[in-house]
Amino acid sequence: MATPAEHLRPGEWTSLEPYAQLVRSLLPRASSIAVFDSNANPRWSNDSATWPELVQAVEQSARDAAGDGASAGQLRVLEGDMPLYLCWLRDDDSRELLAIVAIQCRASGDGEHRSFSFVHALIRPALECLRRELVARHSIDLLAENLSARDRDLELVLAVSSRDGIRPGDDASALRVILENSVAHLGCALAAVLVPEKSLVLFRMAQENPADGRLLAQTHRHLLSLAQVRRDPLIMNRLAQNSALGALPYKILSCSLRSTAGRPIGIFALFRHASAADFTDRDARLVDVLTRKASMIIEASYDAMTGLLTRQAFEQRVGDLLARKEGARRFAVLYVDVDQLHLVNENFGMHVGDLMLAMLADMMRRRLPPGAVVSRISGDRFAMVMPGSLEEALELATSWCETAVQLAAVQGDERSRASLSIGVAELTGDSGELTHALAAAESACKAAKDRGRNRAEAYLAADESVVRRFTDITIAAALRGAIAEDRLRLDAQFILPLDVLHGNPPHFELLLRMIDDDGETVGPDRFLSAANRYQLMPGIDRWVIHHALAQLRPHAATIAATRAVFAINFSGQSLNDAEFADELITCIEASGLPPQALCFELTESATIANLARAEVLMRRLRKLGCGVALDDFGTGLSSLAYLRQLPVSMLKIDGSFVRDIQNDPRSESLVQAVAQLARTMQMVTVAEYVETDAIRERIAALGVDYGQGFSIGRPVPLTEVLADLPAALDRVPRLTHQPAGDPAMSLH
Ligand code: C2E
Ligand code: CA
Ligand code: CA
Repeated sequence: MATPAEHLRPGEWTSLEPYAQLVRSLLPRASSIAVFDSNANPRWSNDSATWPELVQAVEQSARDAAGDGASAGQLRVLEGDMPLYLCWLRDDDSRELLAIVAIQCRASGDGEHRSFSFVHALIRPALECLRRELVARHSIDLLAENLSARDRDLELVLAVSSRDGIRPGDDASALRVILENSVAHLGCALAAVLVPEKSLVLFRMAQENPADGRLLAQTHRHLLSLAQVRRDPLIMNRLAQNSALGALPYKILSCSLRSTAGRPIGIFALFRHASAADFTDRDARLVDVLTRKASMIIEASYDAMTGLLTRQAFEQRVGDLLARKEGARRFAVLYVDVDQLHLVNENFGMHVGDLMLAMLADMMRRRLPPGAVVSRISGDRFAMVMPGSLEEALELATSWCETAVQLAAVQGDERSRASLSIGVAELTGDSGELTHALAAAESACKAAKDRGRNRAEAYLAADESVVRRFTDITIAAALRGAIAEDRLRLDAQFILPLDVLHGNPPHFELLLRMIDDDGETVGPDRFLSAANRYQLMPGIDRWVIHHALAQLRPHAATIAATRAVFAINFSGQSLNDAEFADELITCIEASGLPPQALCFELTESATIANLARAEVLMRRLRKLGCGVALDDFGTGLSSLAYLRQLPVSMLKIDGSFVRDIQNDPRSESLVQAVAQLARTMQMVTVAEYVETDAIRERIAALGVDYGQGFSIGRPVPLTEVLADLPAALDRVPRLTHQPAGDPAMSLH
């Protein structure tokens, strides 16, 4: 803490005139009055002269005061027989000298002067008032100092929290803002963020100074090992000769960066010159906040499993790389796919598969050329952009393939060896080019797989147009744009009850459409595989559910009156999303729609792949009163045993069997068997792909409950269906003629 005296700066003491008047009224002989701080600096005087003799006397008096805590002051006689009363004002508690009041009196003429104690007793009330004033001013100064320091802290925290000028995924510039502000605000010579496992080294110096620049190299090992054991910020204001760091003329404040799981991953360190002020607890608290902020930024930009950049951060970095005016103008892209990782997962478990990915990521990081960036873009795929030619990139890719096969995730087990297929393509300097170059590299990677895996292939520009249109990467990018801009639409396809006797309610299946950049409608067959591959399905399913319920809600009364049921598809990926099930149930409950009006479709294969989770969610949906349909039934059939345990209300027989029903007896018997089986299990059946009237009649005869297909109705926008629901339902068959024993019926 600063001493009181340090706060009495010249100019800060405003007029003390009222006190001087008070002194004069008690001591009429006083001719001039001056106030000095504890260091004998003049602070106020009622006549402008502070002549040398007076100053000298005060300096001596200040020294005397320091050695004599008990006295209240002293009398000195100056030249010309002038008495000078020097009164010492002290702080109540600390007894520290606050100020010296020098009171000069006119000479008495007889050489006799009143004693100090007499004069002091006389003017004591005035001195006490002055003393209190000075103490009060001092605490106000301290408070103001404190407040403005707090203001500065707040400004710093706000400066690094504001996202102005920082693009999403742009971790580097967000961290740079933190470093820059730390250097400027905390008066540091150097601030640094260091995360070895992510090859991340960012620092900022107050001035170009080679000695400051070397600091990180000299200290990082020691600081990192301290960060392993210490969670709190560590202040090192004195680096002793015998410390592990040697005698560095610096002060260090270092704090450990942590992953969300709390694991130490690196350091945020500040360095001040030894001549600068000590780091304080306040600085440490501030740095603690900044470190947390930096940890969050780092976590969001790096993949947790491999420590490589996330896709978003990667795109940002590459954008920066291409936008840079100086340096290399030729770049190449590597698209890396791990061969048959699923075999490792199946044979050894997912954790071994994960370990293999981490090992491969580590290998790539170690063998990264200068200026290159690498990312894990999805599950078992990686992308890398490097400065250099196609040939250089191909050479590197080949060496990665060779190194990868030497890694085994399980010691000694050949089956756990990794291998890579890599596609290489050129990347021209234009910033929009990354998507295309990645697409080209991806298609070269496919070629590498086709040619037997464990190899690298370069992309040959000849069939570029094909690549641009069809690769999953371009589609996924378009889809992300469509989701962000709400360029998606729900269509509804009518599902016709075939047997009027059962009085089954009419259904509609909601089917998703994307509107592409050119305004064209694109069906799910074009985008679902890309969406699956890039984990976009949970986002899509949420979009569908929210929009479907929002569109249906205003028609709740008509829906209830007509008993219409709306079937909504969702994907296997959503089953693995921890929050999805709860969100879905909450949405349904909040929708105000009768739960019977909703049916949820999940494909047979997604159900089998996530049997336990599927069963739990299905039960919850059924308990609410919603229907549950097993979609594409017959395609993933491994055993019928699990059907018994699943609370499914509807089976949708896959269109491939239905379409063939008239030509392929096996399809016909399958459809018939499923219809019968379902009936015994109290499930209703739907036949998909009813493309002709003849097929419709046949499936009705085989005992299928519903038909869905182009001959019954094509998908149309849901808005159109809802605009006039009763009219849309007009096509539900009504009984006109029912000869006894004839299961067929006439429709109109
Ligand atoms: P699905 O659930 O089996 O949906 C039926 C698909 O068959 C629809 O294709 C529909 O247009 C088509 N279809 C209907 N009748 C006929 C016919 O007579 N002949 C032929 N050849 N096709 C017919 P669509 O709309 O392209 O959807 C394809 C798949 O995309 C769907 O298959 C479903 O698995 C998925 N899908 C569609 N919408 C969504 C959605 O909102 N969410 C999720 N997760 N998946 C969706
Ligand atoms: Ca479906
Ligand atoms: Ca289906």
